[in-house]
Amino acid sequence: MEKLSNPQVTIQTIKKFDFAFQKRFGQNFLIDGHVIEKIIKAADITKEDTILEIGPGIGTMTQYLAEAAGKVYAVEIDKNLLPVLDETLAEYSNVEVINNDILKVDINELLGPLASNVKVVANLPYYITTPIIMGLFENHIPAKSITVMVQKEVALRMQAGPGSKDYGALSLAVQYYAQPYIVANVPANCFMPRPNVGSAVIRLTRWDNPPVQVKDEKLMFDLIRASFNQRRKTLQNGINNAPNLHFTKEQVVNALKEMNLPESVRGEALTLEQFATLSDLLGA
Ligand code: SAM
Repeated sequence: MEKLSNPQVTIQTIKKFDFAFQKRFGQNFLIDGHVIEKIIKAADITKEDTILEIGPGIGTMTQYLAEAAGKVYAVEIDKNLLPVLDETLAEYSNVEVINNDILKVDINELLGPLASNVKVVANLPYYITTPIIMGLFENHIPAKSITVMVQKEVALRMQAGPGSKDYGALSLAVQYYAQPYIVANVPANCFMPRPNVGSAVIRLTRWDNPPVQVKDEKLMFDLIRASFNQRRKTLQNGINNAPNLHFTKEQVVNALKEMNLPESVRGEALTLEQFATLSDLLGA
């Protein structure tokens, strides 16, 4: 079968199956072979690799993944796509399609204890980008890298450093677990239908060990979230107003003093390392 990255083949396939795009599932299918090749190259896939693809759609990128990898698990929520995938992936015996919501799948169980060289590759449904990425990290999926298409703004937030307007809780969370690298910007005309936002491919390479040491990871992330909850407020206000944190103003001010930071400092000025120090000071 000719590849689905040829837009004519995608159109024929969609007509043949009378497939109706579902906006609520974030369905924007890739119709550009060059973009897919870029993603495959950035993901650095070999026949030793096990790939988890989130949302194969009609199987456009899955065809390339199956050719490059040893094994592909493709989790798709929309059951209307199953008969399409049966046909478009018929010639690839190393692909397993799972009809489920990725947020409900026990990925560690799906991959099994023996899965080696796991890599996540996906053109993500944008409406759930953050829960998907955080779920992969927090559930300790044994993935060496995550190479995904996301909304351009989200890619910028993942890569941003202190002081930038894009810097926030997502930047810190991603950078605690992985090293982000924006591979390419992708224009809307590479998709069908065209999304009304810009897109970018980002590769997140898992650290073997987190770049900072912290005694209580959960407390650090609670502090990060609280600090960025009220963007224009000071970090101290954010922490003192967070319903799940119970530090006095004095405790926060003293911790900041010990770190040589002014009382009026805002969350966006602190590095990951400083959040780790703050968490250790407050949690002690
Ligand atoms: N990979 C295909 C491509 O590049 O052409 C499709 C990408 S499309 C942006 C996102 C895909 O994710 C859709 O097929 C959509 O049905 C699927 N999807 C949406 N929500 C999902 C979820 N919660 N779990 C699994 N798949 C989901």
